[in-house]
Amino acid sequence: MDDCIFCKIASGEIATNTIFENDEVIAFDDVSPQAPVHSLVIPKVHYFNLSDDVPASTLSALLLAVREVARIKGVSESGYRVIVNNGPDANQTVAHLHVHIMGGRPMSHGMVNFARES
Ligand code: 5GP
Ligand code: ZN
Repeated sequence: MDDCIFCKIASGEIATNTIFENDEVIAFDDVSPQAPVHSLVIPKVHYFNLSDDVPASTLSALLLAVREVARIKGVSESGYRVIVNNGPDANQTVAHLHVHIMGGRPMSHGMVNFARES
């Protein structure tokens, strides 16, 4: 898709530090990490988010890649959080489906910070 930053990463038009890659997905570190380990896995084909018509094989490839990235990053045993932001209320900022993998330090149990009501 034109003007999609993650499509450009997937196609190699924009260079990134690839952690893992296969025919369906590519994983790389988040440019603005919010945890000691903060990586992203994306499908190579453009989908907006999980509400899009994403094939089961792609969903499967994404989670298998998450497991692989956790292993490569050394957090399989220590633990990691997997987040997919979908749409405005979740504050999805990049309109190409992506899975966050975050770890490397103990987290609190609270997972959600709601925006202030205006
Ligand atoms: P979202 O808020 O949409 O769930 O997450 C988008 C994520 O993509 C953010 O954590 C942001 O730092 C990351 N990001 C945005 N642009 C780029 C980029 O060009 N390269 C990389 N590696 N990460 C990006
Ligand atoms: Zn895209």
